[in-house]
Amino acid sequence: MFEVRPVEIEKREDGSIRVAWSNGHEGIYPAAYLRENCHCASCIEEWTGRKMIEPEAIPNDIRPLRISAVGQYAIHIEWSDGHSTGIYAFDLLRSLCPCPSCVSERAARLPDGPQRP
Ligand SMILES: [Zn+2]
Ligand SMILES: [Zn+2]
Repeated sequence: MFEVRPVEIEKREDGSIRVAWSNGHEGIYPAAYLRENCHCASCIEEWTGRKMIEPEAIPNDIRPLRISAVGQYAIHIEWSDGHSTGIYAFDLLRSLCPCPSCVSERAARLPDGPQRP
C-alpha cells in the first residue's frame, strides 16, 4: 500500500501532465522530464540503475499519447516518440514531482539526487 496515490491525472495542452495526489499535493510534470526519468528496462540498466536514455535524444515536442492505470500501483504512459513500455509506479512519480517545494525538500535530503539543477 502507498500512503498517497493519484486521484487525478490530466494531460495538459502543452504536453505536460498534472497529477493531483490523495494528500492534496499537486505537481505538473513536463513531458520530456517524465520521459527522461522512465524506469523501464530499456531506459535504465537493471544492474547499475544507470540511465541509458540520452536527454538529447528526447524530441522537444514529446507528448504523452495515452495514460492508463496499471493495477493499484502505477501508471503506464505511451509516448509520441514510440516508446510505450514506460511504467511509473506511484512512489516513483511522487519522488519525481518537480514542484518547487518537492525540489527543495529533495535537495535538502539528497544532495546528489538524480534531479536536474
Ligand atoms: Zn522506458
Ligand atoms: Zn511536489
